[in-house]
Amino acid sequence: MACTLAGQTADHARNLHFQSLVFDGHVHAIDRELYHGGDIGTRKSDGMWDLPRAKEGGVKALFFSTYVPEDYYPGRLETRQALREIDLALEQIAKNSSAIELALTARDIERINQAGKIAAVLDLEGSFDLDGDLGLLRDFYKLGLRSYQLSAHNWDNNYADSCCAQHKNHGLTEHGRAFIREMNRLGMVINVSHASDEAISQALDISTDPLVATHHGLRSFNDIPRNMPDDLLKKLAAKGGVIGFQIGGDFHSRKLFEWRTAHAGKPFWDTGDIAKREAAMPLPDIDRMIAPQFPMPGADAPGDIRMTVDEWVGVVDRAIHLVGEDHVALGTDFDGGPTLPRGFRDVRDLPLITESMVRRGYSDARIRKFLGGNLLRVFAQVTRH
Ligand SMILES: [Zn+2]
Ligand SMILES: [Zn+2]
Repeated sequence: MACTLAGQTADHARNLHFQSLVFDGHVHAIDRELYHGGDIGTRKSDGMWDLPRAKEGGVKALFFSTYVPEDYYPGRLETRQALREIDLALEQIAKNSSAIELALTARDIERINQAGKIAAVLDLEGSFDLDGDLGLLRDFYKLGLRSYQLSAHNWDNNYADSCCAQHKNHGLTEHGRAFIREMNRLGMVINVSHASDEAISQALDISTDPLVATHHGLRSFNDIPRNMPDDLLKKLAAKGGVIGFQIGGDFHSRKLFEWRTAHAGKPFWDTGDIAKREAAMPLPDIDRMIAPQFPMPGADAPGDIRMTVDEWVGVVDRAIHLVGEDHVALGTDFDGGPTLPRGFRDVRDLPLITESMVRRGYSDARIRKFLGGNLLRVFAQVTRH
C-alpha cells in the first residue's frame, strides 16, 4: 500500500513538473562555449547544463546568464568581455532556434513556450562597466539584455557595493541611484544577488519595481555575506520581489561550506588575489588563464557532507514561512559551481525538487509559484508586458 502511495506521489509530481513553467533564475549557459567552443545544442557528458538535458529536466525558461569574471576588471576589459558574451549568447540562441528563443517580455515567454521551445532571458552577471555609464546600459538593453546585477559579481562597482568586497560606497553612490532609476525606466530586472546588504536595502528604497535576487541563500542557515539576512528578505518581499535559491549546498549547509572553505583555503567568493594582480594582462591571456574553470564544477565533497534534496527544500520552506509562497523561486547556478545535492546529476534531475515538495505536502499552486510563476510575475511587472 505504502508503495502504491509513493508511486502515486511520484506520478503526480512528474506530471505537475512537466506541466508547469519551470523558469530557472540563473544558469551559466555559455561560459563553456566562450572558453572552449562547441554548441549549447549538443549533449555533453560532463557539466550540468545543455539544451538537450535542460529539456529533459522540464526547463521552459531561464535567465540565460552571461558572465564577466573579476579577472577582467583590473585591466578595465569588462565592457569588451561583456560584449563578447552577449554576442556569443545571441549567436548560440539563433543557432538553436528550433529549441530556444530570446524573450524580451513575459508575453514572449508564453509565446515561445507555446511553440514548444525554451525561452531565454538575457542576464549579465558581473559588470559591463565599473563606472556604470548610462549610455552603455541603454546599448546593452538594445542588444536584448533584460537583467543585470547591481554589483560587479563579488567586486564593488564604482557605484554599487558587492557582498564580498570592500564596501567602498556604503551601498550606492548618487550615480548608483541614477543607475537604478534608468533600469526602472527601461524595464530591466535589477538583480541583487552578489550585492551588499546596504546596496540591496538602498536599492529597495529607490526602485519603483520589485527586485530579484536570482541565486541566493539564507543567512539563517549559513551566516556568510553572500546570503540574505531575514530582515532584508522581508523588505525584498514587501516590495513584491523574489529570491531564487541556488542549488548548491555551499550556500545553505554550514557543514558543506566549511568543508569547501577548508579544502580551497578561502571562501568561494574571495577574489582578493585578483585585486592585487597586474592590470596589464592582455585579454587572450586572461581567457586562457580562466578557461579551465568552465564548466565550473561544485566541490568534490563526499556524499555524507552533501545536502539531500529534502534538506534543500527545507531552506525554501523556511523562506516561505518567513515571507510567504509568492516570493520564492529557483535559481540553480548550473555550471557556475554549485555542489549539487546528493543523488542530483545535473539539470535533468530538477523533477526531484518537485517530488520533494509534493511529499512535503505543498499544494500544486505553491509548487508552480516556486518553479516559475513568481519569477514570471515579477518579470512581467518589470518589462510591463
Ligand atoms: Zn553568482
Ligand atoms: Zn553565476
